[in-house]
Parts: sequence; structure tokens; C-alpha cells
Amino acid sequence: MIKITRTISHEELKTQQRFSDAVADIFSRREENPLAYVHSFGCQQNVSDGEKIKGMLAQMGYGFTDDVDKADLVLFNTCAVRENAEDRVFGNVGALKHKKRRNPNMIIAVCGCMVQQEHITQRLYQSFPFVDIIFGTHVLHTLPSIIYQKLSSGKRQVLIPEENGSIAEGVPVQRDSKFKAWVPIMYGCNNFCTFCIVPHVRGRERSRLPRDIIKEVSDLVKEGYKDITLLGQNVNSYGKELGISFAELLKTLDEIEGEYKLGFMTSHPKDCTRELIDVIANGKHISRHLHLPVQSGSDRVLKAMNRRYTVEKYMDIINYAKEKIDEVALTSDIIVGFPGETYEEFLQTIELIKKVEYDSLFTFIYSPRKGTKAADMPDPITREEKGKWFEELLQVQSEASAHSYDKFVGRTLRVLCDGVGKSRDNLLTGRTIHNIIVEFEGDKSLVGSFVDVKITSALNWAMVGEMV
Ligand code: SF4
Repeated sequence: MIKITRTISHEELKTQQRFSDAVADIFSRREENPLAYVHSFGCQQNVSDGEKIKGMLAQMGYGFTDDVDKADLVLFNTCAVRENAEDRVFGNVGALKHKKRRNPNMIIAVCGCMVQQEHITQRLYQSFPFVDIIFGTHVLHTLPSIIYQKLSSGKRQVLIPEENGSIAEGVPVQRDSKFKAWVPIMYGCNNFCTFCIVPHVRGRERSRLPRDIIKEVSDLVKEGYKDITLLGQNVNSYGKELGISFAELLKTLDEIEGEYKLGFMTSHPKDCTRELIDVIANGKHISRHLHLPVQSGSDRVLKAMNRRYTVEKYMDIINYAKEKIDEVALTSDIIVGFPGETYEEFLQTIELIKKVEYDSLFTFIYSPRKGTKAADMPDPITREEKGKWFEELLQVQSEASAHSYDKFVGRTLRVLCDGVGKSRDNLLTGRTIHNIIVEFEGDKSLVGSFVDVKITSALNWAMVGEMV
């Protein structure tokens, strides 16, 4: 087996620390601390990267602002999964042209998955000459040296190495929440699903050492974090190169004492084992929620997607989860209108949705990504037709999820209060151990704590209750 994981050495991280200190020294001679505007698009992995970016910037002496006009540094951490996210980034970057003209000292940086694609980097470099910094996902930890080089030389910085990625431990993190934390356990993906750009931009799978993950989660629990989510493109294949399974890691983490909820995303059905289901079933803190993206209910389409499981294998694991995990909440991702999919094949997906009775679904109309195999497949069905299929699927799902929450009405559930409702101040929102949203009245000081809520009614996307 070729070992592709490169752990960033202590010396390399120390070098970055020296650059960080040098930047802080430059800023200490200014009257005011510079401000950074950081926006992360896309998945939780990107949000987690964004928290590391903020951690490094804070060490360099940056404060933060939500107002682009006040920012000395504007940084877009981009996503490549959907075309409309890319269009938004180009739109946002384009809108900075006039701001940069008014404030030539403003530094504009674009990083993340999108710029790992050569055609995107070239377009950014050539058509947006006011973009100062472009760097890829594999060199995130070198942000201090990139900023230092930009400040000291004034030159544009472009760093998009093609290496398959690395793991950098000890990069500072500035978390967006005081009670919710993302903990990446692995990076990259080996699966090459034919519709997906992730393996092309995030490199091959590499897992963090268990001891580093256990320490991070233990520290988070001690610091009072209540909602901890383990992240990876395919967490089920965690540790293959380390000789430990994801189920073993999860079991160890669950043994950490404290009151907290432990979740994970994203699972791949082909690697989801009965051993993992057993660990969830017997867990003290593990969310009774399994997000298992099926993508399609047709074996032919699954094969064309290179998913490497059949509907039968998928149903086998779903049935085992239903049998073992008390009131398991099931969610999934579905792609509607994959190239070559027929209406009959789409109906097989509907049939599967009815059979599984998901709590909720993340549904997408297929969007081609340049560089993936599916982008070159014949796709005769019009977007309009796919839109009709999509509506049909939403209708089926909204009926199914309203039904699945009825069973909780009249019961009292432990809920982690995680926000204030949009309509009024005393309306709180929270999530159960099944990850189901609950709305109830209470004081906003409860945000970030566990409360008991009696469920009084079920909506098709959430439940309503009263605090007891
Ligand atoms: S498992 Fe498939 S869909 Fe998920 S990140 Fe890897 S290639 Fe993409």
C-alpha cells in the first residue's frame, strides 16, 4: 500500500508560528488592529477549515468583522460541489473590484476546493487581477507565511500544490460557537463517485491519529462543548491505514465522561458496518441518527454513479439499524435526474423512500461538475422535466416525515437548545438525540444547554413542545 499521508512536522509548524509572529509584529506598529471578513461556503468540512483560518488570523493579530467595507482582508473559503456556489463566489469576488479601487490596501484572498481546479484558478488569476491571494486546500496551514509574503513583498501569492494532502495538527482554531464543535477525523476521499468533484479537490483519504482526536474531543467536553460532530467525506472508512475502524474510534470517544451529544458525518453505505450500528445502539452520547446517502433507488443508476452497493445491500443495513437502534432517525441524500436516469428508475427511488421512511432528505437536481465522469455522460432529460420529478419526490417525503414524528407526541425528550427562533425572542430551537428539531418557549439564556421538553405536536420538518 502506498502511504500518502504526510504529517506536517513540528519544525514546519514552528516556521509558520514564526511567520505568524512576524505578521503580528507588523500590525503592532499600526494604530488599529486590522479586520478580516471570512466567509466559508459549502459543507461542514469547509466551515471547520474556516474556523482554522480564523484561528490563524487571530494569532496574527486580526480582529473580525461582518462588514466587507470595514475589512482589511476579505477571504472567501470556497466550495466546488455545486455550480451555483461557484457562480456566487465569482459574483462576490467581482463585487470587490470597486471596493479595492477605493481601498487599495485591502487584501483579497480566495481559497478552498474551488481553486483546486486549474480552470478556476486560471480564470481567477487572469480575469480578477485585484485578487491578491489564491491558495488550495492542501496548504491551509501555511496561511501565516502566505500573508507575510503578501505584506512584505506586495506581490500576488498563488499556491495550489497538487500533492495529495497532509495532516497538520496543532493549527489554532477559532470556533464559531461556544457549545457546538466540528472535529475533522479524516480528510479526502478515495471513492470517485462519478458525479462528485471532492476526490479531485481534496485528495486521497488520510486519517488523523486516534490519540489526537481523543484529546481534542476530551478537551472540548471539558471546555463545556455540548454538540460535537466528527467530520470526514466518508467517516466509515476512517483508520484503514492505521488499523483501527471508525466503530472502534466512536466507541472510545463515547466513553469520555460528561453531558454532550456526539454525531458524525458523512457515512458511505458501502462501508457502513453492523459493528458501527451496534456501537451507536449501545452508545451513551452518540446521536441516534444515521445519515446514509443512498443517492438513487435504482441498481443501474447506482452502478453508473460508482457507488459500489446495491439497493438490497443498502436496505440490509437500514433494516439492521432500525432493528438495533432505538427510534433511529434516518436521513439521506438523493440526486434527481442523474445522466441517463429514466422516469421508471426515478420511481424506484420513490419506492425506496417510502420503504425506508426517512426523517428528512437532502435532495438535489443533478448538476454536472467539470472533470467528473458523469459530466461527460449523455443526459437527455430536460431540466424542466427533472424539476417535475423533484417536486414529486418532495411531496412524497413531506408526507412521510410528518408521519414519522407523530410517535413522539406526548413524550418528554432531552433537547440541546441551540438557537433562538426567527419569529420571536422567547421561541427557542433545539435538537433531540435523534437530531430532530424541536421548537419551544423559553429564555434565550438556555441556548447551549440541555433541557427536557414535552412534545405537543409534530410538523413535517420539526416538533413543537413545552419545557418541563
Ligand atoms: S464518497 Fe462519493 S460523494 Fe462522498 S465525497 Fe467521496 S466521491 Fe464524493
